[in-house]
Amino acid sequence: MIGNVAGIRPYRRGSVRIEAQRLHDRTLIHNYGHGGAGITLSPGSALEVLDLLQAIQPGVQHVAVLGCGVNGLTVATRLVEMGVRVQVFAEDFPPDTTSDVAGGQFAPSLVAHGRDDAERELFQRSVQRSFEHYATLVGRGFGVFPRLNYTTEQSGSALRQVPVRDDGPVQAFEQLPIEGVQSSGYGFSTFLIEPPTYLARLRADLLTQGVEFRHARFDRVEDLRDLTADALINCLGLGAGDLFGDEQVVPIRGQLVHLEAQDLPYLLSHSGYLFSRSDVLVLGGTVERGVRDAVASPQRCDQLLQRHRRFFDSQ
Ligand SMILES: Cc1cc2nc3c(=O)[nH]c(=O)nc-3n(C[C@H](O)[C@H](O)[C@H](O)COP(=O)(O)OP(=O)(O)OC[C@H]3O[C@@H](n4cnc5c(N)ncnc54)[C@H](O)[C@@H]3O)c2cc1C
Repeated sequence: MIGNVAGIRPYRRGSVRIEAQRLHDRTLIHNYGHGGAGITLSPGSALEVLDLLQAIQPGVQHVAVLGCGVNGLTVATRLVEMGVRVQVFAEDFPPDTTSDVAGGQFAPSLVAHGRDDAERELFQRSVQRSFEHYATLVGRGFGVFPRLNYTTEQSGSALRQVPVRDDGPVQAFEQLPIEGVQSSGYGFSTFLIEPPTYLARLRADLLTQGVEFRHARFDRVEDLRDLTADALINCLGLGAGDLFGDEQVVPIRGQLVHLEAQDLPYLLSHSGYLFSRSDVLVLGGTVERGVRDAVASPQRCDQLLQRHRRFFDSQ
């Protein structure tokens, strides 16, 4: 066994928060609360942020991005493409953020879908735009791979949100085509996004393009006053809830077991999920609401391992 990892999903009740406000005479756009789907939704969320920024402050020249997880890096990338000067401020940088803990499947799971029509539409648009964006990164050194996700009948509600790709509709199987598995289920075309490769590549590209990365810790909203940018984008994940007193933000701990990588060209979802990246094979599927301690519990990870064993033993 290679090891266990744990991280805290920055879940937000109701919806991901993509919203603008005025702060210290500047535009501040919030972009946080992606729960268990930050890798999945970050490209679409970044486009929503840019749409808002261009509507409120067209021609903005200098933006401070707060946070250097997948959302901060993705927003920074889109801003640089627009020719904006970007500074990224964060306490932790890859490989030490929650985004680095993520398994890396494209699946909008453990994230709120919105409370009203406008929020639900925004969510669906973000899923769609993200999916289309990841399709453009395949084969270009970003660690993004097209994959089939096989899911049993009982699992996969989040997978049913994955848009259908041109090259393969959702397939139903009387028996999933995996050795040793008898269960019926579905196959969805989706993506595997390997966080170690993806986050490192985003950051390296930004460094090449002259983006400044600055270490900073914001304990009070007042701490943001000294930043000199014309606009701020809040991609602080769980930290955004603390800084802005957002009581809708709820930590949800997740733990993963990392085993040795195998040559598995698919993802599998049953009562847990498993897939292999090029560095490790990932077993996941734990959900601990309200827990903020990002330390893996050997007992909990052993239970996760047993859950996966029971699935194969029951076949
Ligand atoms: C076990 C597990 C598995 C997961 N698997 C998947 C998956 O397969 N697919 C998927 O799409 N998602 C997955 N996720 C969810 C995903 O990891 C998160 O949604 C995502 O990391 C959120 O990204 P973020 O950029 O918003 O926040 P983060 O990655 O947490 O980044 C936040 C940034 O803000 C900084 N920051 C925070 N507070 C402050 C402060 N006060 N001052 C200064 N800086 C601060 C941090 O240092 C960091 O740089 C998983 C999560 C877990 C825990």
